[in-house]
Amino acid sequence: MTDKVSVALMQGSSCWGCFQSLIDIHLRLAEVLPMLDIKFWAAVADFKHEHLEGYPDKSIDVGLYEGAARTEEDIHHLKLMREKCKTLISFGSCSCFGGIPGLANFSDIEECYDVKFRSNKTVKDGKVPTENVPPIAPVIKPNNQYVDFDVYLPGCPPTSDLIFKALTTLIKGDELVLDPHTVCHYCNRDKQETPIPEILRPFDGNADPDRCLLEQGYICMGSATWGLCEGQCVNKGATCRGCFGPPPPIMQDQGANGIGMLGSYAPLEPEVIQDAVRDPLGLFWRFSYATSHLGSMRIRREEAKNQ
Ligand code: SF4
Ligand code: SF4
Ligand code: SF4
Repeated sequence: MTDKVSVALMQGSSCWGCFQSLIDIHLRLAEVLPMLDIKFWAAVADFKHEHLEGYPDKSIDVGLYEGAARTEEDIHHLKLMREKCKTLISFGSCSCFGGIPGLANFSDIEECYDVKFRSNKTVKDGKVPTENVPPIAPVIKPNNQYVDFDVYLPGCPPTSDLIFKALTTLIKGDELVLDPHTVCHYCNRDKQETPIPEILRPFDGNADPDRCLLEQGYICMGSATWGLCEGQCVNKGATCRGCFGPPPPIMQDQGANGIGMLGSYAPLEPEVIQDAVRDPLGLFWRFSYATSHLGSMRIRREEAKNQ
């Protein structure tokens, strides 16, 4: 037992897709699991939160935190993981940047309650539940505003190959070094540095399979996105939606970089771009709104309202 690496895996507000991606390393689990002493993983075994609370501080070698800290319980567990784990990994884009749940910050908490409970026809009486649920924080603050992380492993979800590489490196006690390149670096498409003639929606026309999608007019976030997936979408025919967040230094503003990239390639009138891009928030900041400049202003405003 002493040679094993002790690990704890905690889920905040998330879809469990990142942990699913961990399970998806398939037969390679046979290589990894015997090396692990799992101290806490409530999603797959009957661990109770008291178990985690009972471990001495810094007694667990590696912790993975998936998800955003949306509830007061999430925030408590995130801080607990930091106390108990020597190395804490921010696991997935929800944890690194707020991810898809972070988009909820565009609405205030009452609007969220309206959609989720009061106007939701599947919720009995349209009431916001108050019993047996943890209090919901007024806004999703990025996890790194609550605790420091040692490793950021983004992706929605991180690929199984990336997870396997990270786990085996950390199990050996080596430093995890991740290449800093953007998705464009791994993209096999031909770039000719030509301006964008028009902006196309994903369903418009038939894309040339060999040319850069952005140069054809399809908005691709590859140049503003960390390429830890090695370009798996763009090399299979789809634009990059930016799910690995911005490249190192990773707390830069991915959406602003995406818009800058579009502006430098598209000599089009702002009204034309505005008409073509129906959902700028969802297109440029889909995974990183909570850590963006605009998102930070929103968080400050909501916090001020709730003081
Ligand atoms: S990063 Fe994506 S896959 Fe992972 S928990 Fe969040 S939404 Fe799910
Ligand atoms: S913008 Fe997209 S399609 Fe163009 S090179 Fe970069 S990743 Fe490939
Ligand atoms: S190509 Fe873009 S959207 Fe696809 S997995 Fe990579 S980062 Fe995510």
